[in-house]
Amino acid sequence: MTLKADLRHFLDEKGNELELTEQAKTVFKFLIKIVSSVSENIEQPLIDVDLKCNTRANGLSCKGDIEAAYIEIGIIEWHCDTCEAAGTISNWQGSIWDNQERTIH
Ligand SMILES: [Zn+2]
Repeated sequence: MTLKADLRHFLDEKGNELELTEQAKTVFKFLIKIVSSVSENIEQPLIDVDLKCNTRANGLSCKGDIEAAYIEIGIIEWHCDTCEAAGTISNWQGSIWDNQERTIH
C-alpha cells in the first residue's frame, strides 16, 4: 500500500505550516525531511534519507532505513528498506523545504 501525500494539505496558502494534530505533525516532519534530502540530491537515482521507518508514526517498531528518489516531475517516492512501507510526496516544489536551487556543489 502506498501512502500518497500532498504537501499542500499541511500548509496554508502562504506556505506556512497549518495547525496540525500530533499525528499529522509526526507525518509532516517525516515528509519534509525526505523532501529536503531528495531535493538536495536530486540528481542521484536513490537517496538514503537519514530517517528510520518508525519515525513516520507513533508506535511503529520497524527499524528500517528510508530510501527515496525523485521518480517523475514533481513526485518523490520513498520506501522502507525493511518493510512494505512506501509512499509518494507531491506539491513540495517551491516549498521552504525544497533545496534544489540553493544547493551549491
Ligand atoms: Zn519499515
